[in-house]
Amino acid sequence: MEDTAVNNVGSDNELSQLRIRELEGQVVEMRGRVDALQKEVTQLRRENAQLKRVPLFVAVVVDLLGNSEVYLRQQGNNQEYISQVADDLYKVLKPGTKVAVNNTLSIVKVIGNIYDSRVRVMELEESPDVTFEAIGGLENEIEEVREAVEYPLTHPEKFEKIKVEPPKGVLLFGPPGTGKTLIAKAVAHEAKATFIRMSGSELVHKFIGEGAQLVRELFSLARERAPSIVFIDEIDAIGSMRTHDGTSGSAEVQRTMMQLLAEMDGFDNRGDVRIMAATNRLDMLDPALQRPGRFDRIIEIPLPDADGRRRILQIHTKHLNHRGVDLEEIVHKTEKYTGADLQAVCREAGMMAVRRGADAVEHSDFLAAVRKVRNDPVMDNRMYR
Ligand code: ATP
Repeated sequence: MEDTAVNNVGSDNELSQLRIRELEGQVVEMRGRVDALQKEVTQLRRENAQLKRVPLFVAVVVDLLGNSEVYLRQQGNNQEYISQVADDLYKVLKPGTKVAVNNTLSIVKVIGNIYDSRVRVMELEESPDVTFEAIGGLENEIEEVREAVEYPLTHPEKFEKIKVEPPKGVLLFGPPGTGKTLIAKAVAHEAKATFIRMSGSELVHKFIGEGAQLVRELFSLARERAPSIVFIDEIDAIGSMRTHDGTSGSAEVQRTMMQLLAEMDGFDNRGDVRIMAATNRLDMLDPALQRPGRFDRIIEIPLPDADGRRRILQIHTKHLNHRGVDLEEIVHKTEKYTGADLQAVCREAGMMAVRRGADAVEHSDFLAAVRKVRNDPVMDNRMYR
């Protein structure tokens, strides 16, 4: 009985010894792994510090090519390349994502989505479909704009030969609704250029705090999409004198304006980005914007005269089913109407015919539409007197 107890204690002891040796072995192995991991941490810290030290380049994802391959375009120099990325990073990338790349062109981090803010504030059209035939009157004005904006894009050699610098920026001024945007779009169409429009007043009133950054992005987008035409509508909202007298203008608007001037000054007159702007209030505009090398060609887009109104009415009645309409009388009755008003007259006349259940628009519909557009308080607001 005693013998058995002694034997049991002996074998328990051996088992414990065995377990201790086993655990000691594990401790040694763990120490080895800790050492290896510590070495890895040190190495990664070094690499990380290295990555942070070297300047990173900003690139935009153009496309995802599958197999973790990303097609990137570097901002600034427009260089394009394909980079391999880790799977988890690949999942969060999409066309338009802005990333930071190191000097081996590997993506180090995601900065954001470049088009988010741009798309919110800019209208972008690849070669808009507006042609000069869609614009009534304004022949001389159109020619002046083409000379300054379109020909430098389509016939740069002509300027090169004469050694003349085309105007850098063209400013269109005149009442709202007279066709300023239309001209800019038609020029972009003719030059097969990308049309990028940004509204000055939206920039100032909707995107508070982002103005200068958006102006920077507007011009970088224009460079990316060149040949392009940048069209800044209602530029007076950014560059009005009132904001520079130190009393009413906010510092933010001033920063936006300074960024715009800096961007314009940094542009080559003969480059393939042309700059246009429009305003209804030339008198309000800061003279800094009109200095040579900035908006140095100023073109007035006036209210249409009788010939202009006739052409505009012809354009907007072209696809209208009408019968017995005396356009001459409408031309006479619409003095001081803008192109946009005349378009509204044609649309309203059409609506009246629809309401009557008729199969064609008649002269009386036009007369009623002329009166309606004049008296409509909403439309009246848009009139320029
Ligand atoms: P705003 O200063 O308000 O931006 P705008 O001068 O740029 O006005 P547009 O946007 O070009 O005016 O014109 C508005 C619409 O009016 C056009 O889409 C077009 O249908 C019509 N329109 C204006 N002017 C003309 C014109 N000369 N010929 C034909 N249509 C015109």
